[in-house]
Amino acid sequence: MMASYKPFYLAFFVVVSAEFVWKHHNNEELPLVLEEVHEKCPNITRVYALTEPSVRNVPLYVIEFSDSPGVHQPYKPEVKYVGNIHGNEVLGRELMLGLAHYLCDQYNYHDRHIRALIHNTRIHLLPSMNPDGWQLSTDAGGQDYLIGRNNNHSVDLNRNFPDLDAITFEFERQGISHNNHLLKDLTRLAAPLEPETRAVMRWIMSVPFVLSAAMHGGDLVANYPYDESRSGAPVSEYSASPDDDTFRELAMAYASAHADMASGSRAGCRISSDDSTAYNFGKQGGVTNGAAWYSLKGGMQDFNYLATNAFEITLELGCQKYTDERDLEKEWIRNKDALLAFIWKAHTGVKGIVSDDSGFIQNAIISVVNITGSVPRPIRHDITTGAYGDYYRLLTPGHYEVTANKPGYFPVSRVVTVPRHQTSAKILNFKLEPTTSWFDDYTTFGLYPHGLRDGQPRIYKRSIYQQITDSILDHKETKH
Ligand SMILES: [Zn+2]
Repeated sequence: MMASYKPFYLAFFVVVSAEFVWKHHNNEELPLVLEEVHEKCPNITRVYALTEPSVRNVPLYVIEFSDSPGVHQPYKPEVKYVGNIHGNEVLGRELMLGLAHYLCDQYNYHDRHIRALIHNTRIHLLPSMNPDGWQLSTDAGGQDYLIGRNNNHSVDLNRNFPDLDAITFEFERQGISHNNHLLKDLTRLAAPLEPETRAVMRWIMSVPFVLSAAMHGGDLVANYPYDESRSGAPVSEYSASPDDDTFRELAMAYASAHADMASGSRAGCRISSDDSTAYNFGKQGGVTNGAAWYSLKGGMQDFNYLATNAFEITLELGCQKYTDERDLEKEWIRNKDALLAFIWKAHTGVKGIVSDDSGFIQNAIISVVNITGSVPRPIRHDITTGAYGDYYRLLTPGHYEVTANKPGYFPVSRVVTVPRHQTSAKILNFKLEPTTSWFDDYTTFGLYPHGLRDGQPRIYKRSIYQQITDSILDHKETKH
């Protein structure tokens, strides 16, 4: 009798003891909330801090959900949400804490959809990237449009990432087809990296993220790359990335599952006393290209796309920046379905493993041509395979030719149809055959690895990427 009674009693006790309260959690409470979730769900969560803390030494905490916490598994895409990058934009921070509780509780209640999501996805939530700004803003009453936006060095973290747009636009102009992992090509920073930026950069370079969203406040819209205009125009220049179709669909997935982000009949946010300057994004489906709204350099969104395999969008979650405490729960209800629908988008397109006779092939290049229409359209943004030879290629429904490539191997192409309404990406594996040694010599000096035009020398300086990688290695060496 006791044996069957006790587990029920314990489960009941734990759930009641850690009920989530909607309020503004301060920097001391934030890790306690994450720890509470971990105690409720020890087998599917892990709490960790990024490699370095904020300027004022506050750790940047992440909670991870996975059925194998701490471990990347092939075929399982990784997703992240980043909240509170601007310290005075606070809704994302509380939504992440609420989402963490919700995922854990629903998992424990055997919610079929949440269980499927967690069994098939590795989800990382960073509630606050800018705890110092949050403190500043909160101490000032939370009402100012700017106080607390920046970090404690008065730097806007969403302008502090390396400007890789400039590199990709320059390559486009020169007809150079190298179009991914461009941090290797950066040789000079416009400004020193802030500790929060550096911590997040290391994070996104070390975890093979597929999909991501950063959360802001001040308007209501899902914003997608590029944020930077090609011409330098400050506003109203649509700056399409090679994955424009996919990014639009990702942004629409959030907007259309939100209570009214995509509603054409809602009012726009007032950004000044002169209403004519305000946008009403509801009238365009709740989504916008970044630079078509206004252009910015050094944003996190474009950095994700141009430095890694991750596709990131930017969510503006409401007109208010410092959301009223009594509105937090209402906002959770308005955002909950959208937060989940967006994570499910990591399961669209194709995924697979690239291997040869002796095992996985890391850093193989996956390139895609959209052959849905009468004219084939190459998507000029390749992605690469990770440590297990695995890749995840987000795509909209349609027909595609997908090619796996690696110097020293014959490229292999396969045609695939991406269906509508996926809950699992289509699996497309590649087995590559090594070329002869003569061909190896040719590929070393020919088109590979990045399809440079003939005769174009590639000059490598010591890049920021190397500097960051080296400093991680230094750190490891001094630790052990
Ligand atoms: Zn913001």
